[in-house]
Amino acid sequence: MALQHRYWLEVLVSIFPADYQKSWTLANEIVKEGIGLHSGETAKVILMPTDLLGFYLAFSDKPSEYIKLEIDQVRNSPLCTTLELEGKRIATVEHLFAALIGCGLTNVLIIVSGNEIPLLDGSALDWVQAIQKVGLQCIKGSHKQNLELKKSLVIYQGESLIIAIPSDKTKIIATIDFPYKAIGQQTFTVDLSPETFINEIAPARTFGFVDQLNQLKEQGLIKGGELKNALVCDGDNWVNPPLRFPNEPVRHKMLDLIGDLALVGIPKAQILVYRGSHALHSKFALALKKECS
Ligand SMILES: [Zn+2]
Repeated sequence: MALQHRYWLEVLVSIFPADYQKSWTLANEIVKEGIGLHSGETAKVILMPTDLLGFYLAFSDKPSEYIKLEIDQVRNSPLCTTLELEGKRIATVEHLFAALIGCGLTNVLIIVSGNEIPLLDGSALDWVQAIQKVGLQCIKGSHKQNLELKKSLVIYQGESLIIAIPSDKTKIIATIDFPYKAIGQQTFTVDLSPETFINEIAPARTFGFVDQLNQLKEQGLIKGGELKNALVCDGDNWVNPPLRFPNEPVRHKMLDLIGDLALVGIPKAQILVYRGSHALHSKFALALKKECS
């Protein structure tokens, strides 16, 4: 059994699927509460098992009215990924989605109170540990889930770029480039599997910059933003070290990409991401859906 002994990570990788070839759901229900980044209010999320393929969401005032989540419901905001569902919005879905798809889950019902998913510690780790606690079950007779990419895709937006090349596995190479000494240029490469997602990507926390954060707070945004749910940088240094990895920011960008692919699936491809953003990721997800359907 592969038991991790890092202070922030105690996950039994062996209970998770070895790859992304089949459909999996939760073995039991998960209930989690936390502060929403934007509203600053407590948000509650219930995750439940289902035989239905896909991710479905209901609001707690109408818990039986599930809406199937699709990539064309995504609305980008600069700070997070938001879904628009029959006139209602649900914000900051990406870290939960990254945890679901990254751990190998394909069939989940989500019930949400409020209009955003709690940020927790700014990574996907709390979700992964909650999934580990209840366990996963394989859907009998389920088929391959990987998207088969048939030709290369190039997606760009300004100076940001994603290139995806068909492959027999999923390899992601991400690069970020910030004009701040504390971050600078970072590149991280991973052969994606539930195990590498859990160990190398899920614990990486979101990050922000002191001046930007002050500005957003003055505008009444990020009411729930605190030093315990994001890494904060003042340019040359981190305000709240230690980092979980020396290159935690680029790993978090990869976490965001995986979350933004959750509604189309993980493609078998070599994916090169340069200066990714939620808008770029979503554009890529839409192109993948078109290319692979
Ligand atoms: Zn993020």
